[in-house]
Parts: sequence; structure tokens; C-alpha cells
Amino acid sequence: MLQSTARPNSSLDAALLEARERYTAKRPKSAALHSEAAKVLPGGNTRTVLAYTPFPTAMARGEGCLLWDVDDNIYLDLCGEYTAGLFGHSDSRIQAALRDAMARGLSLAAVGEAEQRFARILCGRFPSIDMIRFTNSGTEANVIALSVAQVVTGCSRIIAFRGGYHGSLLYYPATGSNPINAPFPVTLCDYNDIDGTVAAIRSAAGELAAVIVEPMLGSGGCIAANPLFLTAVADATRAAGAILIFDEVMTSRMSAGGMQERLGILPDMTTLGKYIGGGMSFGAFGGRHDIMEIFVSKVPHAGTFNNNVMSMAAGITAMEEVFSAAAAADLFALGEGLREQLNVICEKAGATLQFHGLGSLATVHFRRGGIERPYASTPREEALKELFFFDMLDAGIYLARRGMTALSLPTTKRDLVQFTTAVSDFLDGRAPLLR
Ligand code: PLP
Repeated sequence: MLQSTARPNSSLDAALLEARERYTAKRPKSAALHSEAAKVLPGGNTRTVLAYTPFPTAMARGEGCLLWDVDDNIYLDLCGEYTAGLFGHSDSRIQAALRDAMARGLSLAAVGEAEQRFARILCGRFPSIDMIRFTNSGTEANVIALSVAQVVTGCSRIIAFRGGYHGSLLYYPATGSNPINAPFPVTLCDYNDIDGTVAAIRSAAGELAAVIVEPMLGSGGCIAANPLFLTAVADATRAAGAILIFDEVMTSRMSAGGMQERLGILPDMTTLGKYIGGGMSFGAFGGRHDIMEIFVSKVPHAGTFNNNVMSMAAGITAMEEVFSAAAAADLFALGEGLREQLNVICEKAGATLQFHGLGSLATVHFRRGGIERPYASTPREEALKELFFFDMLDAGIYLARRGMTALSLPTTKRDLVQFTTAVSDFLDGRAPLLR
């Protein structure tokens, strides 16, 4: 636990140095694994989001909402596999479904009953999805959805938003650019900017294939869309003859039918991923009949693992038996309560930080006031975020390095006391740095 007496540093640099040293001292096996990994994996990893200095913590196992690292440190898992770990690490119903699927054999190279059952479940849940097809990742789902929009409209331009993340090939950071983005002709707009976005959509009419938007920017800082913004974008997109794509890869957990159901705003196409495959690799895109029917004969869409038996089996059980409408509502409420409590603690401490988000997803921001769109963090904000990360790990809380938390279903209010206590201790111990 953090003790204010153990945090004498008044300088942010000194505090960070000490936090990094403490981190390193507690993780010799993670450090050794990282240096070996770097010989065969560039940067020592195969997933940039897990890479950070001095080296990432390597996990050995998980159970429920707990994780054990290779050095035997134990954590409450609030990273939740960046939202894909909704079911925790050991849901017995999902494990049984996987064992059953394995017993019936892998790699059957054939259609089967499971994929249509899974498709029926998802079409029944998400109001905008009449028909659906599966992929193996959210990235793939988004690349294909955008390509579908181009085929259907006969146009090529895409409108996306600064700070939007639609996958490793469709990443539009708030500042700078991603050198490996897929080569779609993209116009970027500012999130929650109604006038600017509507004007951009209108001026692109005739060449615009699609507008792709997350109903809440996930990686971009858990910044929710103003419903008026989404409605204006939907109206303008339709008036321009283009296709509106909601990327609900992260936000679909906000209710049984995703953010679209919660807001009552329907896109033409929706993309899904993350937790929906019950923890197995998964992605999907779906939408209106008239759009999706291009796959009947006009457009091919193959993919060796699109209907792999593990993802189908785990996904059916996860969505049918585990993540019910009631479970989705309870998780949303748990997250709202947590964020409110955290923000009250921050406010009372007079500290320059807040937790932004919606339902079970939140990100810490080291600034006060409303946040409508992503911003370029100052070096001080970056350093504070790093310090927060190390202090949380030290208090046994595992979260995303960027300060994001994603609650999983096994997490209880009681578990979350550990987090609120760790945040209180951080506010207390680091008070001189947070004013
Ligand atoms: N879309 C959103 C909103 C995401 O948050 C992500 C991943 O974080 C993706 C798409 C890409 O999904 P995947 O990592 O499965 O390719």
C-alpha cells in the first residue's frame, strides 16, 4: 500500500525515478523475459499496446478478476484485456463450452450449426444488424466494413475522427499519424464538433463512401460522443448518400444492444470484436440486408478462421448464458458508480485529475474540466500518467499503461475498494505533484 511518508518526492522526475526503480526491483523475472524476447520479437513484444519502459510486466496466470505475474505479484485486473476480457479469466461456463468444442475436433473446414446460431444471437441483440459476417479481429472487421461501403456506394472517401482507433491499420491519433494505416483516402474531423463534421460530410457528398465513428472514443481517452453529435452525423451521412459505420468494438458492452441501443441512434453498419467471442479471437461486421447481401454473389469474403470452432463455441455461451441484458446493465451501473466515487475523491483532494468514461470503461486524465475530444498531453501530464500506472501496480492494481480501466464481470464492489483506496493513497502521497 502507498504510504504518504514513503513518498517524500516533491519533484516529479525524482518520484518517477523512484517508482521505476521500485517497479524493476519487484520484477526480476519480467525483466529477464523482456531481454530474451527482444532477441526475436522487435521491441520484445508482438503487441505495441503492451510495450512500455523499463519493461512490461509479464503475466503467468489469471483467475476470476485476479492476475499473477511471473514474479508472483498479485493484482486486481482492471485492464480487462483492453475490454476483451469482459468475462474474467476463468468463467466455468465458457471453459466448459471450449472443452466441449475441443472434444469434437478442431479445423473442420466446413460450415456448421454454431456459426448460424451465433449470428442469430448477435442479429437479435444489435438493432442495426440484420445480417452479420465474422472475422478474427476488430481491425479486420473495420477494414472490410469500409471496403464494403466503397463497393456499395461506388465512392472512395472515408470520414474518420482525430483520436479514433479502429485497429492497427486504422489508427488516427490526435496528433501525428500512423505510418502503417491502410491506404483509404481519409478526411479527419474533430470528435464532437457538430458544425465542422456536418460541413465536411456535406462537402464530400458524391465522393463519400462512409463515416466511421466510435460512439465513445475508447483508446482516445474514454471520451463519449454527445448524442446530438451522433444524430447530426447520422443525418448528414444519410443525406450525403454515404454509409454510417458505428465501431462498437469497445462500446457494445454498454448494454445488451450496445451504445446504439442505449442512445436509440442506428448506424447502417456496425463492427464488433473484443469480448464477443467469449475471450477467443473475434471480430464481426454487420448491418442492413441490402448492404450485407453483396456477399451473396457480388463480393467474396473468405478467412480461414472466420468460423473457427473455439470462437463460435465460446461466443455463443458468453452471449447467450453469461452476458445477459441484466448483466450488461449491472456492469454499466457498477462502472458509473465507481467513476463517480473516484471523481468525488479527486475533487475533495483538489487534485488535477479526473476519471472520464462511460459505464465500465474509464481513463484517468491529469486535467480538470470537460473533455470533448482528445488533446496533445503535456510532458507533465505524460509523466503523471506514468507515475499513476506504477503506483497502481505497486498497490496491486493492474490497468492499461495509458490509464484506462475496463471492468470485468467477476469484479465486485468489494474488489473495487482496493482501487479507490489506491487512488486515495496516490492523491495523498503525491499531493504536492497534483496541484
Ligand atoms: N475498434 C476499436 C474501437 C478498438 O478499440 C479496437 C481495439 O482496441 C479495434 C477496433 C481493433 O480491434 P482488434 O484489436 O481486435 O483488431
